[in-house]
Amino acid sequence: MKIYLNGKFVNKQDAKVSVFDHGFLYGDGAFEGIRSYDGLVFRLKEHIDRLYESMHTLLIAPHMTRAQMAKAVVDTLKVNKLKNGYIRLIVSRGDGDLGLDPRKCFGHPNVIIITDKITLYPAQFYQKGMEIITVATTKNYVNALDAELKSLNYLNNILAKIEAANAGYIEAIMLDGNGYVAECTGDNIFIIKNETLSTPMLGRLKGITREAILDIAKEFKIKTEEGFISRHQVYNSNECFLTGTAAELIPVVKVDGRSIGAGKPGPLTLKLLKAFKDLTKKDGVRYAV
Ligand code: PMP
Repeated sequence: MKIYLNGKFVNKQDAKVSVFDHGFLYGDGAFEGIRSYDGLVFRLKEHIDRLYESMHTLLIAPHMTRAQMAKAVVDTLKVNKLKNGYIRLIVSRGDGDLGLDPRKCFGHPNVIIITDKITLYPAQFYQKGMEIITVATTKNYVNALDAELKSLNYLNNILAKIEAANAGYIEAIMLDGNGYVAECTGDNIFIIKNETLSTPMLGRLKGITREAILDIAKEFKIKTEEGFISRHQVYNSNECFLTGTAAELIPVVKVDGRSIGAGKPGPLTLKLLKAFKDLTKKDGVRYAV
């Protein structure tokens, strides 16, 4: 396996950054999880744009244009001859001293691209649906760390994930500061009630898969809503599912012990899942290996 490291392809065992990198010391950096399907990088432009927005907020200049960044992603897939891959694109602040002041870093962010495979959830969850819970760890407030900023600092979500795992669950709902449903630890959440598809408006990452599902729903003339969603509304929805680059679209059939709808993946969820799979065959940047 070859890793892209600052413009060079190096072997996995040689893909190393310094212990003085502020990504390591402080979680100071941004990242993307991207996926390629049969030689097509799904919505690559959208991922690159989101990465550059995160870096803009963090005041990290990668010394690469968006086009060069996109090309580096495709080149890494090609070098590894991967037609179906999960891509981890990381830009960390780079080396500095032991203080957290980014101005004292040397201005050379580390750009790393790893192309590999990922399996997030067991296959049976996609057929039967998944059971999740709500955890006590809330999402970072918008004025602390905006959920739309996809930073290397994932401790908020990791603490929630630990809570879920301790309770015997693989994924969990996190609430925002006001108690509304925000998202899950690594996925966005949707509910369907009376044919209307709803998803939280704030306190969540603007997932690329989320946006794709909203696009598909509009194409199918399904009514969509982005707003505030309570747990009561989740418990009493007809259907529920999660979305993410690694997860794709996964049905949820029980939340905090409450069955959702008929307790099995709903018809609209399955229709959207199929449409999403179809979209991954056509929406993105094509490459040959
Ligand atoms: N929320 C969080 C916290 C995530 O980590 C992810 C995965 N990147 C998502 C939502 C889903 O986003 P996307 O569809 O862009 O993968």
